[in-house]
Amino acid sequence: MRKTTKPKPIALTWKTAAIVVVALAVGAFAAQWAHAQWTDAQTRAYAEQKITIIEIDDYWNIQDGYFAPYGYSYENYADVLDVIESHGYRATLGAVPQIFNERTRQHYPLANDSRMTAWLKEKQVQGHEIAQHGYTHCLNEQLCKGVEENYENIAKGKKELEALFGPVRTYLPPGNSWNNSQYYNAKVLGFDTVGNTHVPRPYFDGGTLITQRSFDPVSLWQWHAQKFEHYPLQEWVDAYEKEPNVFILQLHSNTFNNAQKTEDLDGFLDYLNQQNATVLTYQDAYRVLRKAKQKEKNKMIPNDR
Ligand SMILES: [Zn+2]
Repeated sequence: MRKTTKPKPIALTWKTAAIVVVALAVGAFAAQWAHAQWTDAQTRAYAEQKITIIEIDDYWNIQDGYFAPYGYSYENYADVLDVIESHGYRATLGAVPQIFNERTRQHYPLANDSRMTAWLKEKQVQGHEIAQHGYTHCLNEQLCKGVEENYENIAKGKKELEALFGPVRTYLPPGNSWNNSQYYNAKVLGFDTVGNTHVPRPYFDGGTLITQRSFDPVSLWQWHAQKFEHYPLQEWVDAYEKEPNVFILQLHSNTFNNAQKTEDLDGFLDYLNQQNATVLTYQDAYRVLRKAKQKEKNKMIPNDR
């Protein structure tokens, strides 16, 4: 009797299908991984030599003394910068165009504080960079919702600072509070650098440099409070050593309310000096990183001559 041909066992078909599905999944994952690696290589900002940036924030109108109880005084601003200058370093100073005082519910234009603006101009001549640090520096959800990321406000702030100091190339978010609209608006307004954001490491978005969040030595801080604590010096050093490429030290002059804190800053700058560290403003770091990126791209493009 002739044996009838049995259809192929269905199990084999399922097995083949499973193999195909797994192969496709692995392929898709590998393609995604390769694309991520490629994008990372294309956009990542590398310094040929490790760079350190010193950012000091919160330069605003203090003439009426409203902020004095929280440590904002002309003397404190000068003391911190004196230590930095004594090591021959230059910093980026984050200026706030229209500080909003939550108690009086009023804005105080930086342009009206002639002592502060004259001092900042002097610092700029000495090689420090003036950056934009938000618009009103108000992060109060009830009083200032959406104010800081608003395009018009960032644009107005830039214009006001530029009328005082000339081109402003770096944007630093107030209160280390960061969102996508703020990022997008600062980028389209043409800042070279958007510093101190929440990305894990520095990269270029087109011609804009986006940097990671800084190391801030303040361990205890409260808005409208008078008590501040700093991490011990060793933690500053550990943070520096952990960073392979671009290290950002973020300071606030008002938290340097005792001699120990100023000595720690001095000690850390001594350490940087011993390390032969390259300390740059954001503006100069941008130039160095851009050049390195260009060099890297040129290497990737084959010479057709
Ligand atoms: Zn600030």
